[in-house]
Amino acid sequence: MRKKAKAPEKVPDKTGILFFPAFDWSLGETHPEREERLLYTQEQMFEEGVLDLPRVRQFAPAVCSLNAVARAQAVLPEPGVHSLEAHLIAAGSALVLGEAWRRKEIANGFALVRPPGHHAGAVVWGNRGFCTLNSEAIVANDLRTRGVRRIAIVDTDVHHGDGTQDIFYHDPNVLFISLHQDGRTIYPGSGGVEEQGGPNAWGSCVNIPLLPGMGDEGFLYALENIVLPKIAAFEPDMIINAAGQDNHFTDPLAEMNVTAKGYGKITEVLRPDLAVLEGGYSIQGALPYVNMAIFLALCGADYSGVREYYAPSCEEVKGAAVREYFRDLEEARKQVHHEWQRVTESFLPSPNWFYREVEFFYDTDDFMEKRREYIRPCRDCGGTVLMMTRNSMTLERGVIVRIPFGTCDACRLAAERIYDCFIDEDSPMNRVVLVDNGQ
Ligand SMILES: [Zn+2]
Ligand SMILES: [Zn+2]
Repeated sequence: MRKKAKAPEKVPDKTGILFFPAFDWSLGETHPEREERLLYTQEQMFEEGVLDLPRVRQFAPAVCSLNAVARAQAVLPEPGVHSLEAHLIAAGSALVLGEAWRRKEIANGFALVRPPGHHAGAVVWGNRGFCTLNSEAIVANDLRTRGVRRIAIVDTDVHHGDGTQDIFYHDPNVLFISLHQDGRTIYPGSGGVEEQGGPNAWGSCVNIPLLPGMGDEGFLYALENIVLPKIAAFEPDMIINAAGQDNHFTDPLAEMNVTAKGYGKITEVLRPDLAVLEGGYSIQGALPYVNMAIFLALCGADYSGVREYYAPSCEEVKGAAVREYFRDLEEARKQVHHEWQRVTESFLPSPNWFYREVEFFYDTDDFMEKRREYIRPCRDCGGTVLMMTRNSMTLERGVIVRIPFGTCDACRLAAERIYDCFIDEDSPMNRVVLVDNGQ
């Protein structure tokens, strides 16, 4: 049973649903991330009459403001150069349900939106993994300006949620957990157990790579034995599920064995307050059934009758092999100790900041983001973060200074000093962005 930090004042009995199929947005007619992804789901739900259940409340899409985006992501060189319309509505729609949950109008909700967002990180130079704006991160940081303090994001897409991880890597007040097919076998390649959060937020990032072939049993074992205890220890105010459905056994982009009923069970066990659709590319074979099972589970209704036309045909990893795999995985997680590099630079107001270098591949346009990160060591808050980023294709550069949620005075002062130092530089190649989440 998961613990919540605060007991709700009243318990709403509605489940929210919102469709945004983004008919006008596509990466190409034959691209797996295309508009038909939600059409079959809508038809199936309509035909089965689930939208008429008294518990269900439908919501209309809305556009996300660039201010809400800016609390989570720096869009470079500036938002106007990217085609953001569909992404802003996908994120805005997730915000509508997040806000309805915060206002206690619904007990939980499911944003059935596209395009997806979980590969979009702290810096946006373009589209990667079909994602430009990160809906879950935008919702989390928006709600944190309005009293929701601690948020757990559980990513059940088959691909590692590397963008979401990136946004919250230095934030001890967001627990990010990603279950995904082992990165050595699938895009984007990251998500090993050694990635456990930045120096001020160690342990707030939990990666659970899964063996190809694992199905319902393996997924649920990880959920009950790793995910739920970590959530209980973290005591979140809210749980957001990045509900990717490409673990389904018919998905063309992955090799997992999860069924629609398995997805229903995952939702029943996880009990998210908000689920946001991420990936899932088996348009007719999986999405209508998986979405239906997730939604029925959110409604507290019986999902056992939801069945695909086919049964999984590939070899499934089961039984003792599952238990042994996760025992070894947790042992490996405990063995990881990270020695952070320290640096002293003229633009940093104090010596010995933590330092790391990261890079991200933008597969849609085939370029790299190269980034240097400096993190102020702090015991009182998440710490100031300075990101110096470069687009390897255009050679444009950006500087992002982040004031963390719940900042201490020293971290705010440090951020303002760095910002002043860079904003005075008169370089046309540099965008200097101050992200003030300090309140
Ligand atoms: Zn995916
Ligand atoms: Zn601080």
